[in-house]
Amino acid sequence: DGGRASEEEYLGVALKHGFTKETMGAPLLMLDGTIGIDYEIQKINGKWFNEVLVAGRLREFDLLISAAHFKGHSGTGFGGALKNIGIGCVSKGGKVQAHTGKNLTRNFEKCVDECTACIDICPTHSLQKDSNNKIIYNQDTCKLCYMCVSACNEEVFQREKIAREQFIEHMIDNALGVVEFFGQDKIFYINYAIDITHQCDCSGGSDVNFVQDVGILASRDPVAVDMACVDLVHKSPALHSSCLDGLYIPEKDGIHEWFSYIPRFDYENNETDLNKEGKYQDFWKIQLNAAEKLGLGTKNYNLIEITELE
Ligand code: SF4
Ligand code: SF4
Repeated sequence: DGGRASEEEYLGVALKHGFTKETMGAPLLMLDGTIGIDYEIQKINGKWFNEVLVAGRLREFDLLISAAHFKGHSGTGFGGALKNIGIGCVSKGGKVQAHTGKNLTRNFEKCVDECTACIDICPTHSLQKDSNNKIIYNQDTCKLCYMCVSACNEEVFQREKIAREQFIEHMIDNALGVVEFFGQDKIFYINYAIDITHQCDCSGGSDVNFVQDVGILASRDPVAVDMACVDLVHKSPALHSSCLDGLYIPEKDGIHEWFSYIPRFDYENNETDLNKEGKYQDFWKIQLNAAEKLGLGTKNYNLIEITELE
């Protein structure tokens, strides 16, 4: 609920959710700057990307503690530590590139004469009109915030249409960029596996929790901590009145693969499919497998249970 175009808008959304400097005991800031154009380019050897737009303000810190809400996600199956760094720790442009790839075509022949929406919104003055009223784009000064794309109501900008698998692997390439920029040994991951809804927190609406709270998990390994959360959710009974209630979901050795049955975003029809037919789709495995393959961690873990803090 609310805009996410600038730090000011993000902080407004955070306030509505109860996150303030006072409630958190620390300043809140957007890692890619006040308007999302502060980034560092990290070269990587990813599956799809060889460069990642890492959020620039990470350069100001010595250690990074990722505190993620673990829950379902209609695009990536679930959201946890990997998504928190692969989407949360890249710039605005890095987020867009994860979702739609890096290829963007611009056909300014389709412009409307009197329109200046993209020029007005561009923070770097990289779009201007020439004496013939034609848009000139300056690639050298563009900071890849994609605000011009959002502002345009014509079919000037065409993004790549990518499959969901590719989006998930883009996100993991981004995570690799963040880890290589910051240093694998300087990042610690905490997953709050509580209030587990089928939808991500960035969605305007969701549902009641589909399983009971699992707990708070921590690790130096983002793959292990996400895998452990998935396993614990799959060992939990579904809650009544949730999106999973009433579906026939097979059980094996006390495990239900809930994340294979939650509602998901249908990229073909561009809408959320509530999956009332109970179709099986294990997209949640893609991010874990891709991350393990890129050396971000391992799906094998030892779970040490702590019930009381000393
Ligand atoms: S040209 Fe577009 S993407 Fe580049 S800085 Fe301006 S608004 Fe952002
Ligand atoms: S917002 Fe779109 S139509 Fe308007 S000037 Fe920019 S590119 Fe052209």
